[in-house]
Amino acid sequence: MTLRLPQLIAGAFAQSDSEHWMAVTDPATQQVLCEAPAATPDEIERAVTSARAAFERWREVPVSERARLMMRYQALLKAHQEEIAVGLSRETGKTFEDAKGDVWRGIEVVEQAANVPALMMGETLGNVARGIDTHSWTQPLGVCAGITPFNFPAMIPLWMFPLAIACGNAFVLKPSEQDPMTPNRLAELFLEAGAPPDLLQVIHGGREQVDALLTHPQIAAVSFVGSVAVGQHVYRTATDHLKRAQCFAGAKNHMVVMPDADPKQVVNALVGAACGAAGQRCMAISVAVFVGSARECIEPLTAAFADLRPGAWDDPDAAYGPQISPQAKARILDLIARGKAEGATCRLDGSDCQVAGLPDGNWVGPTLFTEVTPKMSIYREEIFGPVLCCLCVDTLDEAIALVNESPYGNGTSIFTASGAAARRYQQQVEVGQVGVNVPIPVPLPFFSFTGWKGSFYGDQHAYGKQAVRFYTETKTVTSRWFEEEAVAGPNLSIQLQ
Ligand code: NAD
Repeated sequence: MTLRLPQLIAGAFAQSDSEHWMAVTDPATQQVLCEAPAATPDEIERAVTSARAAFERWREVPVSERARLMMRYQALLKAHQEEIAVGLSRETGKTFEDAKGDVWRGIEVVEQAANVPALMMGETLGNVARGIDTHSWTQPLGVCAGITPFNFPAMIPLWMFPLAIACGNAFVLKPSEQDPMTPNRLAELFLEAGAPPDLLQVIHGGREQVDALLTHPQIAAVSFVGSVAVGQHVYRTATDHLKRAQCFAGAKNHMVVMPDADPKQVVNALVGAACGAAGQRCMAISVAVFVGSARECIEPLTAAFADLRPGAWDDPDAAYGPQISPQAKARILDLIARGKAEGATCRLDGSDCQVAGLPDGNWVGPTLFTEVTPKMSIYREEIFGPVLCCLCVDTLDEAIALVNESPYGNGTSIFTASGAAARRYQQQVEVGQVGVNVPIPVPLPFFSFTGWKGSFYGDQHAYGKQAVRFYTETKTVTSRWFEEEAVAGPNLSIQLQ
């Protein structure tokens, strides 16, 4: 019998009454690991109503107690890091080392959530007028919802619910239907850490379930991470229903290589940043821009790409795993074919990739294109596979102009030995996360994850201080205490001091 994944609703993990179930498969073998339900309207209603009731109690719990829950949760996640990573590897295909990283980057956000008392502190100023003082508090919003993608099934849910809950909210999570087992495990451990059982609700499903959350009057705020088209839909629908929304979307990240950059560092950085996790990272480098003589890196880079071999999650020699689904693989192969048809030179073609003993896996070999132009589909579209597009320009200014013309703005990096070039790049580039000799500049959780342009819709970003602002309202209190009995009478005009 295929395992049927339960949902966490109203304080208990239980089987759905749904008639629609979606198979969750091992992407290296197509073996069905479990089935996830498409939550029924009744189940979604129960989840939201129960979360609202939990919020009414949780908002009264002292902030230090909320922080302590996060400390216990962080310790439990650490103790279970390897076990979570094994399950995560099986349903995503990620190599074990990479899966441990996925869990670790989430744990770091939980650590940050344990700092919530300091993060939530407001402002205060005495004597703003004679005998009058003002202070501000940050207070939770109510029930927040999170909709997460397949590519980081531990890290991205952990970007959301720990901070939202530490701030005093309740949370409804709708994880990706492609790898929902890891988020369920995160929720089990949250209960084990002593969380009130109805504070976090986990429902499963796809578009219909997401739309039900986006239009539900009791949901105050929506955090979304996923593709551009869905991100735009979520942002429009949530804001149209007068909700706060933060939507992190797709990307096309450029790495600019200056002629003075160390070629070995450049090759290592590009191999890891383009092919790690089979290119299925929103911060992956998918475009390399070589300035002037830096184009000499292309030969050794192609050789290094050719040495990479995908494989099963538990194969210690595998550089990366399979694509998440046969559909994702087919899309990538179609884009590779379009790249060739549109005139790019495919120096290395991973379309026909086999892995011994795993004939049914969604394998795509490392692929490298040169002579790419900005009009080509492989340049314009997010490929989300181990495919690198190489372009050559003559100057740093041309490189900056190219990056700035991209509709995306998630991440970028520059490799150079020149402080002046690095400074000009970080000052002028219109991208929200910039690395200087760091290929994937994902900020640690005391900063925020600050994608720009078509890679983000909203204003307050994920984790760090911005997430605390996103998950709270500011209340500003102005107070006066009378010392004397005597009252001068009503005052009908604005007081000047
Ligand atoms: P996706 O957009 O297909 O799915 C994301 C979530 O939206 C899932 O929970 C899914 O069930 C739901 N969904 C799918 N179609 C929907 C629809 N029509 N209406 C409402 N909800 C819908 O994304 P994915 O393939 O799971 O993830 C990969 C994408 O996520 C890539 O584009 C990647 O760049 C992006 N991503 C962005 C960031 C970032 O921080 N900017 C981080 C990780 C991933």
